[in-house]
Amino acid sequence: MAGASRQAKRLLLGAHVREIVRHGKQLALVGADGSVLVVQLGMTGSFGVVPASAPCEPHTHIIWTLDRLRELRFVDPRRFGGVTWLKDRHALMARWSHLGPDALALPSGWSAPIAASRRAIKAALLDQRAVAGVGNIYADEALSMVGLAPERPCSRLTARQFEALGQAIGAVMRSALASGGSTIRTYRRMGGGAGTFQASLRVYGRAGQPCVTCARPLESALVAGRTTVWCRSCQS
Ligand SMILES: [Zn+2]
Repeated sequence: MAGASRQAKRLLLGAHVREIVRHGKQLALVGADGSVLVVQLGMTGSFGVVPASAPCEPHTHIIWTLDRLRELRFVDPRRFGGVTWLKDRHALMARWSHLGPDALALPSGWSAPIAASRRAIKAALLDQRAVAGVGNIYADEALSMVGLAPERPCSRLTARQFEALGQAIGAVMRSALASGGSTIRTYRRMGGGAGTFQASLRVYGRAGQPCVTCARPLESALVAGRTTVWCRSCQS
C-alpha cells in the first residue's frame, strides 16, 4: 500500500493546511509538513468548501472530508484545470517564477518586459508570463475602460497608457471579485450561487450590441486565438 499512502500524502490527506496562497490563476495549499498542493482552475472549474450534505455536482474529481459537516471539493467539467503536488515551498516559488506579477496589484513598471513587443496588447495580457491572472473577459473589459484597441501593438502604447491599463486591470478584477465573478455559460461559484459581474460587462459577450459610450455596434473578432469584443470608435 506504499503507492496508496504516497498518493494520499500528495493530496494532503490527513494533513493540516498551514497556509493558502495564490498567484494569478493558481492556488496553493501549504501543508504542515511544508509540502504544497497547487490547484489550477480551468475556465469552468471550481474549488471550495461546501456542506457535506450538498449534492455532488457532475465532474467532481476530488473530495476532501474536513470534518463531519464540511467537505472541500474540486470540480472541473472540462478538465482544463488540475492539482499538482510539490515537495516544498522552494518548488512552488520555482514554478511561480515563470509567472508575471499578479493582476490584482500590478506594480508600477509592470509593463517593462512587454513594452517594446510588437505583439497585440491583448495577446500580452493573456500571456501569464507577462501578467498572471488576467482572463479573456477581464482583458477585454480593461482595454475598453482605457480606450485601447485589443490589436494595438504593445510597442505603440505610451508609458502613461500602460499605467492606466494596469490600474484598469486591477479595478476590473477587484470589481469582479466583489460581485462573485462572472457566470458565463457553465461556470458557477462553488456552492451553486451565480456571480453577477456579467451584468456590468461593457464589451465581453456583447458583440453587435451598442457600445455603452457611443452606441455604435460592438465589433467581434479572434485576437490571440480568443473571442474579442471592442468598440472601433472608442478604442484605438
Ligand atoms: Zn464606443
